[in-house]
Amino acid sequence: MSIADNLKIIEERIKAAALRAGRDPATVRLVAVSKTQPAALVSAAALGGQRLFGENYVQELAAKAVEVKERVEWHFIGHLQSNKVKQVAGLVTMVHSVDRLSLAQEIDRQWGRLGGVCDVLIQVNIACEASKCGTTVEELLALASAVARLPHLRVRGLMTMPPFFDDPEGARPYFRELQRLAAAIAAEGLAGVEMVELSMGMSGDFEVAIEEGATLVRVGSAIFGERHYR
Ligand SMILES: *Cc1c(COP(=O)(O)O)cnc(C)c1O
Repeated sequence: MSIADNLKIIEERIKAAALRAGRDPATVRLVAVSKTQPAALVSAAALGGQRLFGENYVQELAAKAVEVKERVEWHFIGHLQSNKVKQVAGLVTMVHSVDRLSLAQEIDRQWGRLGGVCDVLIQVNIACEASKCGTTVEELLALASAVARLPHLRVRGLMTMPPFFDDPEGARPYFRELQRLAAAIAAEGLAGVEMVELSMGMSGDFEVAIEEGATLVRVGSAIFGERHYR
């Protein structure tokens, strides 16, 4: 199977899941997660019609962005160290993984230098797993309102990574909880906070995530195959 074939299959599954949930398939965007994959595979996916890619590592992204000649859009989806924000400023159009105010402040500073605005999602660690990043549910509202006051970023929604389950149904309560949290924050009516994006769902569970309201699904291995760990 080629990458273009895989993309077609994933797009079909996204569409079917959206329709099943009574949603317009156009409200779900596929983020092709290309971490550890060579630039040539990103180009292959881009030639297959994919525009949006997600990356987790700053150096890798910076190098790949130079190599990929097709017109693509990058989202940063991994843990981001504040001292590396400068290297992705202006390169990515969205950061899915804002989990602390100091990171948001650095994003604000770097995008401010460029005279731009960065779309961000707040990453929530719903299961409170020590191994995962994300703010706690308790701190979420305070963080969202503090981040919203920064002029060079826009809070667009929430992101989560639930614990791993063999059965994708296991992730459903976490997806549902993220949707509930987004609605609760939206109800606060904070200036500068829009809750229009829910980034949730990966290769093993994106259909369940779509049924629970995902607008951005982050799919890697189902498109590119096994990851090439460095
Ligand atoms: C790697 C990664 C993905 C994609 O995972 P797959 O199971 O390969 O689809 C999605 N989101 C984040 C944050 C990741 O790090």
